[in-house]
Amino acid sequence: MTEFSNADNQEITKFDRVAQLWWDPEGKMGNLHAINPLRLRYIMDRMGIAQPRVLDVGCGGGILTEALAKTGARVTGIDLSQMSLDIARQHADQHGLDIDYRYESAEQLAQEQPGSFDVVTCMEMLEHVPDPGKVIKACAQLLKPGGQAFFSTINRTPKAFLFAIIAGEYILRLLPRGTHSYRKLIRPHELYDWANVGGLTFMGVSSLMYNPFRKTFTLASDKADVNYMACFVK
Ligand code: SAH
Repeated sequence: MTEFSNADNQEITKFDRVAQLWWDPEGKMGNLHAINPLRLRYIMDRMGIAQPRVLDVGCGGGILTEALAKTGARVTGIDLSQMSLDIARQHADQHGLDIDYRYESAEQLAQEQPGSFDVVTCMEMLEHVPDPGKVIKACAQLLKPGGQAFFSTINRTPKAFLFAIIAGEYILRLLPRGTHSYRKLIRPHELYDWANVGGLTFMGVSSLMYNPFRKTFTLASDKADVNYMACFVK
């Protein structure tokens, strides 16, 4: 059980249960491995400084966190799934990566260390929390002025329901069943509004497009389709 107010215990339990799967690229988390090079490139192409201090919010097993650390960034990863953090720490140790993993919420860290990160990433996490606006606000508080935030999530549209939930979880089985609940998915304007209220300026949006025949993802610019990623500056 977590004692954090803006966390859904059922969601955290779900990620605790699948924690052993984080580093199996062929398993149910394989999707995150498949999109990782694209999202890393998206971030790196937009990142203003070398060796930035980066925070990865909702880091899970550390798929993106490790990729960021390998580029030379100094990285902190936070999550509320203890089991996922255990796996993340083990994996980083085994690969000689120095990552500061913490069991902490973004809201709590924002109280302790406001204005201390050059970049905050928060990928595929907002659709699992009760109040995404609060997480976005905390991410904004954690950034230095001029710092960049990257959020990715899934759109709440009939197409996203069909592709991300029906096809993704039941037909192609790319994700564990029950990973996403439709009502928690996030429309782009909702994300932009929360970011705006938090003091972030919208810089751009791209989508990860899946080709079920080739089983590959590509990045489409200026588009918020099913799975989209947006960049903001403080
Ligand atoms: N960002 C990672 C993992 C995405 S899965 C990646 O894209 O590879 C979503 C993660 O968010 C899970 O690890 C889950 O435990 C975490 N999470 C859910 N609610 C959270 C909260 N309130 N605070 C921090 N992490 C949370």
